[in-house]
Amino acid sequence: MTNGDGGKQKLKVLVTVKTYPIPSAMYDELVCTAGVTESGDFIRLYPINFRDLPFSQQFKKYQWIELVVEKHTGRDVRKESYRPDSDSIQPLGEPIKPNPGNWAERARYALAKKARSMEDLYDQQEADRTSLGIFKPKKVHDLIITPDDPEWKSSFKMALQQVRLWETRTASKEPPRKVPFKFHYHFECDDQRCKGNHRMMIEDWEVGALFWRQVDKGASHEEAAASVKQKFLDELCGPDKDTYFFVGTILAYPKTWVVIGVFWPKIQHDDESSNAQMNLFDEE
Ligand SMILES: [Zn+2]
Repeated sequence: MTNGDGGKQKLKVLVTVKTYPIPSAMYDELVCTAGVTESGDFIRLYPINFRDLPFSQQFKKYQWIELVVEKHTGRDVRKESYRPDSDSIQPLGEPIKPNPGNWAERARYALAKKARSMEDLYDQQEADRTSLGIFKPKKVHDLIITPDDPEWKSSFKMALQQVRLWETRTASKEPPRKVPFKFHYHFECDDQRCKGNHRMMIEDWEVGALFWRQVDKGASHEEAAASVKQKFLDELCGPDKDTYFFVGTILAYPKTWVVIGVFWPKIQHDDESSNAQMNLFDEE
């Protein structure tokens, strides 16, 4: 990172994570956009008013952007939290698509500073206020579906409507619909200190996007929830995948870590390195 005037820095970020709105968060951190710098350091960017960005400045996951940022001050003391200068955002080239050959390019940055376990990340948080990380779960036991409020709380919905932190190229002024379920990964880490019983909420943007895509195609809410489980457990954490979890803390509850994204390259065997991997999502 290069230092500029007034604590501002210009840097390049590979965007790796976008979350669905997290109702428990403070209202200025309604969604989390996170990524890594060229050296693999994690960075959290908010607020970003996606809808106010001209088309030429809109960006997708696994796209490099160049932008001017300033460290958050005040309430947010987390190590990786930066405030972007929205006018400065410049997408650089095309996103790195999830083709088989491209996962290595993604991994070069996304996994550069990987942690061994959640226990490691708890230690780092204690030491230097680390609040973002990526690690490989040793075993993902389950994806637990729990019914949740069907509507945003009205104060939260108002905040969503005012700041318009989500990305859409349609004319709709409505915020993303509330998903009437919570999804938790139940997993254990590869660490002797691990009790083997983590249950962490999944806040990946793709969960909500997938859920509502299924509903809009005619699925019931229960069927749509089952589709989320099928994708996020059976496919993304399947035995043929080398799965990592992007995780981060919530501003309002600093001790609460959530899964904010999944890194899921197919395990490459020498004899099948040319197999094409299906793109399961329209990554946004
Ligand atoms: Zn653990």
